[in-house]
Amino acid sequence: MSNLYAVLESGFPVDRKGVAIETPDHCYSWDDVDRASACLANLLASLDLPSGARVAVQVEKSPEALLLYLATLRCGLVYLPLNTAYRESEIEYFLGNAEPDVVVCAPDNEPWVERIARTAGVRHIYTLGDRRTGTLLQAAASQSQTFRTVARKPDDLAVILYTSGTTGRSKGAMLTHGNMASNALTLREYWGWRSSDVLLHMLPIFHIHGLFVASHGALLAGARMIWLPKLDVNQALHYLPRSTVMMGVPTYYVRLLADERFGRGVCRNMRLFISGSAPLLMETFNAFRERSGHTILERYGMSETVMLTSNPYHAGDGERLGGTVGKPLPGVDLRVVDDGGRALPPGEIGHIQVRGPNVFSGYWRMPEKTREEFTSDGWFKTGDVGRYGGVSGGRQVPDGYVSIVGRSKDLIISGGYNVYPKEIEGFIDDMPGVAESAVIGVPHPDFGEAVVAVVVPKPDASLDTQVMLGSLKETIANFKVPKRIHIVAELPRNTMGKVQKNVLRETYKAS
Ligand code: AMP
Repeated sequence: MSNLYAVLESGFPVDRKGVAIETPDHCYSWDDVDRASACLANLLASLDLPSGARVAVQVEKSPEALLLYLATLRCGLVYLPLNTAYRESEIEYFLGNAEPDVVVCAPDNEPWVERIARTAGVRHIYTLGDRRTGTLLQAAASQSQTFRTVARKPDDLAVILYTSGTTGRSKGAMLTHGNMASNALTLREYWGWRSSDVLLHMLPIFHIHGLFVASHGALLAGARMIWLPKLDVNQALHYLPRSTVMMGVPTYYVRLLADERFGRGVCRNMRLFISGSAPLLMETFNAFRERSGHTILERYGMSETVMLTSNPYHAGDGERLGGTVGKPLPGVDLRVVDDGGRALPPGEIGHIQVRGPNVFSGYWRMPEKTREEFTSDGWFKTGDVGRYGGVSGGRQVPDGYVSIVGRSKDLIISGGYNVYPKEIEGFIDDMPGVAESAVIGVPHPDFGEAVVAVVVPKPDASLDTQVMLGSLKETIANFKVPKRIHIVAELPRNTMGKVQKNVLRETYKAS
């Protein structure tokens, strides 16, 4: 039985009466997790869908949303989580591309999601609110509370996770039961998960970080999760003294440090703080250690591969080094190569390529793109640029440690979310009076990077940046909307005619 749910369930505690998920107003026992996911799985199974059918979900974070994910795994369908910030034009693309049979949306979005979903030919549409409301739970309530998790092979598709493309549209990374089970089992050992752990879960669950790395870890360990909708510093300070593990994007750590109540006292039961999804500044790493007495463990991964590298947890595995993302996890091969694909020695910067049981099987309905992103000998090209060893923060890094120095594409990561310049540039260029634009990321103390647009008007056109920003806010998710728009007469270009984004980043870094 290689169904990912069965693997996770193998870690559930023998006493199913204990608390699996705790929210500020409700506790769910392990029995509840089993029974509620069974009801939902029975509902999905009753729809008689073909194997491989997709269940697309865009809902606010709630325990029921996690149960729906588990139910989808249990009945062998494919889960497709969608960022809650996505608007109509984005959802239209995802539904058209993924052709799901089931769509579950937030009750407030039902009017427009239903219209788009019906047009895309979706047959089953449900709603799920964050306070146990919506048609999905009503329909599941009458279902049986027992369900035999269906057998799946390691290569069977479990999840499609959309990552945006730098050129063109988003790509759906196809992750199998085997990809995620192998990674969860590795991390259980590497991070020393145990049933007495209490995970403070404040991450969104439409992304690998919150849905896979965090939830899988706690479920497989049979550990309790304190389930909060998002980072709220007051709530975090309230629950930290009862927690042992926290996972966050770097912004979370910056926010905690900004509150003077945060310190050793609230961390007294903590054993592990983990950071990822974006680079953690040395400044934050050092300030956190000073204030809390804890050394943040930074790790690196991506939607296509789940976790790839991690700083050590067990003392025997080595030191936890700020400014690095640690060592390749057991079972993961990682190499740094030059433009010609030749492996580089430690200290030299190049393209990061990876291989292992955690690496995805390809992009949904994009065989061309899949071929491009894998080498002929089966390595996946991550698009990240980095090195083994070298000097970081003024000290020599041991050769086995990886540091990420940048991204080969111009991806911007703002608050842990990926923003692809090309997509925003497309929307800006379509505006009246715009000749062309370039979207870049500039350093931001809170979000890691902030989105900034540089725009060239058409001759004689006058642009109102406030109007432009207002229109973007209505069209795209908030995290993609530029913080500022600069109007310029022309964009800097190199001799090949390419816009020099590095020059723009330098010019506007303090803007
Ligand atoms: P996503 O698919 O949204 O998880 O984004 C994956 C990308 O986030 C990676 O390819 C990296 O560029 C970046 N990333 C993830 N973790 C780290 C980290 N610890 N440091 C620097 N970049 C990271």
